[in-house]
Amino acid sequence: MSGTDDDIPELTDAEKILWQAAESDFAAMGEALHKGTATPEDVDSAFARLLSMDHDRDKHRNALHIPADAGEHAAAIETILRRIPTNWGRWLSVDAGWYPLVIATDAQLARLDPDYRVHQIKEKFGTLCYYFWPSSDDPGAQLLDAMYAITDDAERVSSITCERCGQPGTLHQSRRAWVKTLCTVCAEALGFVPHQ
Ligand SMILES: [Zn+2]
Repeated sequence: MSGTDDDIPELTDAEKILWQAAESDFAAMGEALHKGTATPEDVDSAFARLLSMDHDRDKHRNALHIPADAGEHAAAIETILRRIPTNWGRWLSVDAGWYPLVIATDAQLARLDPDYRVHQIKEKFGTLCYYFWPSSDDPGAQLLDAMYAITDDAERVSSITCERCGQPGTLHQSRRAWVKTLCTVCAEALGFVPHQ
């Protein structure tokens, strides 16, 4: 990995705090929506905070958003975020229970292609979507197949791993029928029930 650091803006401490406040507003709003307890004020305040950051949108999108709860995984997550090209948004859209899985997936992909690029890492329908592209624009079918096998595996593991805490989990759903892979304890904390 080289030559990409010039593209990455540094956020000031004040900007980092604003970003984390917005993240926490959205997390609280998401939980309240899942539980069915969200008020219009919850939604308004989360969006008001986000809009207040709008003038710096490019800067925020391109800065490295190491999650506040990254803990011991911060350095490994930073390595992954640095693989994301400019304007794709340098953050992970998964909860902390999947950080080790995301990091293991990156290590396996990097063994095959040290300079591969990450496009997006997010949760969708309760499983991990790890979107990447090889460093070469013409990688060849063999490399691509080997890399897809790694992200397919990660998707399977995510479907039995609690996204919140990393313990064994199963698919759960909220009142609004949003789904998330969770253990029993986390499901209860978030107001989710087993998926029907
Ligand atoms: Zn859990």
